Amino acid sequence: MLNCILLGLAAFTGWVLFLLASPVGRCRRCRGERIIRTRLRGRVRKCPRCRGAGRSSRTGAVWVHRARWAIRRAVAGELERRREKVPR
Ligand SMILES: [Zn+2]
Repeated sequence: MLNCILLGLAAFTGWVLFLLASPVGRCRRCRGERIIRTRLRGRVRKCPRCRGAGRSSRTGAVWVHRARWAIRRAVAGELERRREKVPR
């Protein structure tokens, strides 16, 4: 049971680090081709998922980076508060 939790935690940490390293990946819907072929007569249109960019943020990447900025801001605020307390 504990092994399962540790394994899950390790996988989660690895995934978060991976997202921090490369938050943007190839769009899964168009596979980076920027266009998708509709079934009707093989028509081609711009990929709606990435809006023709061919790339899209990975699952959880937005969340991870939001958390990262929140932590960074909190740390900066704390440092600022400490600096104010120190008398010169
Ligand atoms: Zn796409």
